Amino acid sequence: MYRTHTCGELNIKNVNDRVTISGWIQRIRDKGGMIWIDLRDRYGITQLVFEEGSTSTELILKVKELGREFVIQATGNVIERISKNPNIPTGEIEIKVDTLNILNKSELPPFTIEDNTDGGEELRAKYRYLDLRRNVVKKAMELRHRLAIETRNYLDSIHFIEIETPCLIRSTPEGARDFVVPSRMNPGEFYALPQSPQNFKQLLMIAGYDKYYQIVRCFRDEDLRADRQPEFTQIDCEMSFVEQEDILNTFEGLIKHLFKRVKDVEISSLPRITFADAMKYYGSDKPDIRFGMKFVELNEVVKGKGFKVFDDAETVVGICAAGCSEYSRKQTDELTEFVKKPQVGASGLIYVKYNTDDTLNSSVDKFYNEEELKKWTTAFEAKPGDLMLVLAGPKEKTQKALCELRLEMGNRLGLRKPDVFMPVWVVDFPLLEWDEETKRYYAKHHPFTAPKPEHILLLDNNPGSVHANAYDLVINGVEIGGGSIRIFDRDLQKKMFHVLGFRDEEAEHQFGFLMNAFKFGAPPHGGIAFGFDRLCSLFGGTESIRDYIAFPKNNSGRDMMSDSPSKISEAQLKELNIQIKLQ
Ligand code: ASP
Repeated sequence: MYRTHTCGELNIKNVNDRVTISGWIQRIRDKGGMIWIDLRDRYGITQLVFEEGSTSTELILKVKELGREFVIQATGNVIERISKNPNIPTGEIEIKVDTLNILNKSELPPFTIEDNTDGGEELRAKYRYLDLRRNVVKKAMELRHRLAIETRNYLDSIHFIEIETPCLIRSTPEGARDFVVPSRMNPGEFYALPQSPQNFKQLLMIAGYDKYYQIVRCFRDEDLRADRQPEFTQIDCEMSFVEQEDILNTFEGLIKHLFKRVKDVEISSLPRITFADAMKYYGSDKPDIRFGMKFVELNEVVKGKGFKVFDDAETVVGICAAGCSEYSRKQTDELTEFVKKPQVGASGLIYVKYNTDDTLNSSVDKFYNEEELKKWTTAFEAKPGDLMLVLAGPKEKTQKALCELRLEMGNRLGLRKPDVFMPVWVVDFPLLEWDEETKRYYAKHHPFTAPKPEHILLLDNNPGSVHANAYDLVINGVEIGGGSIRIFDRDLQKKMFHVLGFRDEEAEHQFGFLMNAFKFGAPPHGGIAFGFDRLCSLFGGTESIRDYIAFPKNNSGRDMMSDSPSKISEAQLKELNIQIKLQ
């Protein structure tokens, strides 16, 4: 038997017990005469002790051979420690070892296996299995597991069933780029890896499985960012005989359950905001509502006073930062620099200080006297001590820039508290998005999303104005989930494909199987998918989703550990009927 206990469970009650534990050597302290070893496994760390004189010389010699990360098995008696460590559960005891087995040696690891490791990101990615030994990474894996279990428990308790859908599927042109897999048995033909099980879950609704879910891997060949991976996991769900309201309520339940069970956080309400309002007040469809500082439009108040920047602008819009009127020149300059950064994209920043002595001064004093500026304060509902920050320009660009500035001010003022969670449903999305480059509409969510019934007629003449029964769940400014009520009528789906610029044959060719299925009694249905990795990182409180994936890819989509993707042999290529011509 390799062990009677783990390295995390022995305590003062076990004193005098004879035990055997196995694990990895975290640290060796040789104080001449006394040697201590911290032995680690998944469950914790237990201290082993060897004492020259009372421990046999043979054993002491064996101990001197040991090094960090050796795998050993130790047997001995549990004794009370003299100097106790209150920080760990096993801190009151140690094991006086009399029998030691070296199960495996280890080379010196390339970085220290500690919470604060000396290993850089690349090195840790290359030796991910060593990184996974670190406590912080282990905690992330445990959190992920807990979230998955609680998701399953909750959904199971309300009669959802988990059904697996295939990984080798038909490539479809809509959405992101597909990863494709050549078929050896069908030369010249390819499978695609699913970007999501969207079509399959709809088919399951037609099949009568009215509450489906799956914790499922999805694949998208997109450019990567910190919160994106080429393969990622979704909690994918679909329900039949439901309206938007039913879906929002069901998954509000899931979110509350997860926060309660995993973080012991009570979410009292999930407010809703329309897409239009989210853009108007936060300049984003992913509003961080942990703090106010809502946008205030100033067109009416500021135009026509001879200030060209405002007069020529499509929109003049600002935020009011409470208590910041005493910002120094240096601080306002910093903010100006911030908004002018290319990623933010504004051409300049105008500010008005509402001083605590009730006076007002601004960076546009030449055009606006105190009396005029008073009107600004009314629009902002500003109080003495506040700082108003204003941007002007084309609407979309200016909203986006002000959104960045608002988040920056939120950070500066400590308003984006990591332990506060404010979920919000964003609803009433537009159905379509116009793309100037290709001069066509794209589905804002996906082509299977249903228009609001009262907007169906608009599809012919004014498709851009059609709203969808689509919704996103946003938590603390991060999009955690999204879904929609689906089209379940064959003719409406056909029409949707038309609006998206598909010819009949194309739609038939790509989505014939779905259209066909619609002939056989498709029920009204809708669903949602949550980004599981993002949910983990939100719960765990760090930004990168990579921390929550056991074997993630780096920013160029590479697995640094196994060095993939990689070339394949000529023989493999031949078998697949593939010739590679690199340009
Ligand atoms: N399949 C969608 C997605 O991956 C989610 C949904 O509409 O349920 O974004």
